[in-house]
Amino acid sequence: MRRIGFFVRISNWVLLFLVVFAGCKMEKSPSGISDGMNAKDSLTQLDKNTASEETEDKVSTEPINEGKKKKEVIPPQWKEIVTDSTGILLDIKYAGTDNFTKKKIYPCGRCFVRPEVAEKLLLIQKDLKERYGFGLKLFDCYRPAPAQQRLWDAVPDPDYVTPPAKGSMHSKGLAVDLTIVDKNGNDLNMGTPYDFFGREAHHDYEDFAADIQKNRVLIKKVMELHGFNSIRTEWWHYSLTKKSYPLSDWEWQCD
Ligand SMILES: [Zn+2]
Repeated sequence: MRRIGFFVRISNWVLLFLVVFAGCKMEKSPSGISDGMNAKDSLTQLDKNTASEETEDKVSTEPINEGKKKKEVIPPQWKEIVTDSTGILLDIKYAGTDNFTKKKIYPCGRCFVRPEVAEKLLLIQKDLKERYGFGLKLFDCYRPAPAQQRLWDAVPDPDYVTPPAKGSMHSKGLAVDLTIVDKNGNDLNMGTPYDFFGREAHHDYEDFAADIQKNRVLIKKVMELHGFNSIRTEWWHYSLTKKSYPLSDWEWQCD
């Protein structure tokens, strides 16, 4: 009987041990899953933290970025004439004070035109180069309507500046002011400077030496050959009038 009692006691201890062990396992098991979840949650949290750090970084760098220029988006209806790719020279007079208003009208000199104007200018450039070794130099291209207003404010005289209410062909992107340059980039002698307001700038003025007369005939002939119209009083001004566009306010960026 003592032996049986001994075994019963042992069995009880074993049972107790098993119960306690199972209990421990039961406790440990959920905690194991929980650990896994915690790990996962930690990763999520880490992601969140990283994301929030990124967000914070973004927020914190915004004031620094504010001063930087946004990348310029040039609307598709405008083409820029750039010397490097076309060989056409630029001397945008209203971007400086060397113009008849003596005031800077554009913050910087760039040349934008409507696509058909750009296409024809390239053809003229090619034509002049192949035939004479010459090229074009542009003094003015698209003139944003606000710049036309600035021009008018500087010289409010309809004999010299188109009133903003009427609007200039330049503000439609269809007019260019230009001259022809020789193979060294020097202006051909046209008898007067650009924006000279007098009889000598008129197309029908013929009291010039033969070489000047020849240059004046050449510029008019080559421009008209490619569809540009001239105006009677300015040897430098040409426009395309086959297609019309509205006056535009869009202004280009400067660095
Ligand atoms: Zn003009």
